[in-house]
Amino acid sequence: MRDALERCLALSRQARKESGTALAATLAELDALLAATRSGIAEPNAAASADAELELDLAGYLTGWSDGAQRMFGYAAEEALGQHVLFLYAEDDDDGNIAELFFEPDSGATGARTEVRRRKKSGELIWVKLRLLLRHDEAGDPVGMLVELNAADSALSASDKINLHARIIEDSDQGVLITDAHERIVSINSSFTRITGYTPEESIGKTPDLLRSGVHDAEFRAKVRSAMQGEGPWRGEIIGKRKNGELFPQSVTISVVRDEQGKISHTFSLFSDISVHKDAEARMQRMANYDSLTGLPNLCLLNQLVGQALTETKRSQEHGALLVIDITRIGAISDTLGHEVGNGLLCEIGRLFRLSLREADVLARLDGHKFAVALLHIEKREHAAIVAQKLLTALAAPIVIGTHSLQVGGHIGITVYTEDGTDVPTLIRYADVAMNKAAQNIESAFLFYSEEMNQRAKEHLRIESELRQALSNNELMLYYQPKVSLRSGRIVGAEALLRWRHPVRGLVSPGVFIPVAEETGLILDLGSWVLEEACRQVREWKDANLIMPPIAVNLSARQFDNQLPKRIAAVLERHGVQPDQINLEITESLLVRGTDNVIAIMNELVAMGMALALDDFGTGYSSLAYLKKFPISTLKIDRSFVIGLPYEENDCAIARAIVTMAQQLRQEIVAEGVETAEQMSFLRELGCDQLQGYLFSQPIPAADFAGMLREGKRLAFGNR
Ligand code: C2E
Ligand code: MG
Ligand code: MG
Repeated sequence: MRDALERCLALSRQARKESGTALAATLAELDALLAATRSGIAEPNAAASADAELELDLAGYLTGWSDGAQRMFGYAAEEALGQHVLFLYAEDDDDGNIAELFFEPDSGATGARTEVRRRKKSGELIWVKLRLLLRHDEAGDPVGMLVELNAADSALSASDKINLHARIIEDSDQGVLITDAHERIVSINSSFTRITGYTPEESIGKTPDLLRSGVHDAEFRAKVRSAMQGEGPWRGEIIGKRKNGELFPQSVTISVVRDEQGKISHTFSLFSDISVHKDAEARMQRMANYDSLTGLPNLCLLNQLVGQALTETKRSQEHGALLVIDITRIGAISDTLGHEVGNGLLCEIGRLFRLSLREADVLARLDGHKFAVALLHIEKREHAAIVAQKLLTALAAPIVIGTHSLQVGGHIGITVYTEDGTDVPTLIRYADVAMNKAAQNIESAFLFYSEEMNQRAKEHLRIESELRQALSNNELMLYYQPKVSLRSGRIVGAEALLRWRHPVRGLVSPGVFIPVAEETGLILDLGSWVLEEACRQVREWKDANLIMPPIAVNLSARQFDNQLPKRIAAVLERHGVQPDQINLEITESLLVRGTDNVIAIMNELVAMGMALALDDFGTGYSSLAYLKKFPISTLKIDRSFVIGLPYEENDCAIARAIVTMAQQLRQEIVAEGVETAEQMSFLRELGCDQLQGYLFSQPIPAADFAGMLREGKRLAFGNR
């Protein structure tokens, strides 16, 4: 028998050589047969259950063709018999390795089986289950083969399918929630219970609101609802609520199932609990953006924040500054007292810096003993120097860490954007350059990257320190500039203007030193001095029996705090001066800050008997409606609108509007900086009340002003 088979195999191999790959399948079938024979089990066994039966001789030619075969392949017996079985093969079929199946130990008991593709007469390809059995003659020698075929039903039966799907759903790691068309939960899986804590008994029949966390807004919920109503699959993150009340982020897919009519029969949500990822994300976020020692932002976050500010600054043409601060002596301290002390010191320095900065300023730790400060929006570039000085002052006192009192210092490099650079790395690099230059000083110091800024800062610092001395050295004095009535031409008041008689530089203009004083806070001391001096002078004139008009004093917005009325009252009282002898000039910036507090303070001053004037009117943002809220009795039209009168159309229109408006509000109007008779005539015709300017008089020393009053100097209106 074996010989016959070997022969048959050889034949087939020959055939394969001749007919190419299609024959490989035949070879495989024969190989399989051989394998089955080797295991000695292949016996003919008429299979009553077969859909089709074919008989082959040992060379593979068809000798039998059942009715079932006719039904399966579409060939009548006459067409099939005598053909080689290859004519049923799909051309591209290559079952070459089918044989392997048959070598499996239990493959032979009921014959060799496999699933193969075959071609019908119509050309259609079909999958068939194939079972191969040997036919023997009486002597027991193989004479042919019986091939039993069953149509392979590749699709699952409906119930198998349901069972399979149910298993997949049940075993899924994702939570599954299925609702019916009325949004009632009809099914959940075990992961749903694991994630949410709700058992089937607790959830089936309820709506998915069971998991609602309440953190999403109406718009978001509407989006999810429309997905549930068939808008299409929706994927996103939703915060859900577990049975124990805990909120958890979930990644969700929502889809709908429709029936044959296209109506939604079910909605299903697949979700995973991503709280672990979210926690990790938040931790990573922290690690990526914050310094682990001090908890301050690191270089990465600084980069982002300054990067954003830079984009805004480029548009608004504002300034910002970046300061890099190197702390000195930290290395030596760590080496001698240990890293614990060094680290404690760095944390404490971070805290001290934070305290000296405004909330909007960014403080970051770069590395080692280097910090950075970003002032995202500054009005003037010089302000960065004030902040640098503050930081150095914070380092000046010894810092106590445990039992140690430690002295450190700092060197600061400053870059200003967008002048010095328009991207963060450049700004940091230049700040480093400036810092290294500053570090050439043993003492703590700061430097701007730009030489021009260094000059300005130096000048600024010089003015500041000299101004402090000016106060104690009696270098300050008040000049008085008369205000005259445009009706009578008489002097009806005067403005006290600060003058600084510098020992070397001579008379310094307030335009130079007032802004420095404002920035450094020195204006508070200056303001007190001015008020004191004005009151002293008024009292002196009174004692000399001079009848003087009210004297106006300029107030800085910085002086405007709750204590201001009390402070003024004390000064007035000390000098025995009546409140109506002193007027106060304030600027619009104070109104713009316009909190209730400011109005309350103004009301208090008015209640004391003082009059308030709004200085430089028109240069700020005040509007009519806005002005009504403030108890102001006088408006001073800014000099910039007076200059163009009566020739500049715009200036005329503005002056006219301001006068009309002030008249409606029953406020007195003073025009500042009037230098020509034409300006005066125009203002007079408009109905302006008073004039202050070089046309009548420059600001003059107190004695000159008193002399002017004594003489009864008047404004000449000319013959117009
Ligand atoms: P201001 O309060 O608007 O003072 C009016 C300024 O205009 C004064 O400048 C005055 O000298 C100048 N001026 C008056 N008439 C004319 C004119 O016809 N032509 C020109 N070109 N200028 C005229 P000054 O004295 O240099 O003061 C400048 C600013 O400094 C003041 O503006 C005020 O804002 C501030 N200031 C002066 N003294 C004090 C003070 O005691 N305290 C405060 N907080 N600020 C003061
Ligand atoms: Mg003024
Ligand atoms: Mg003014």
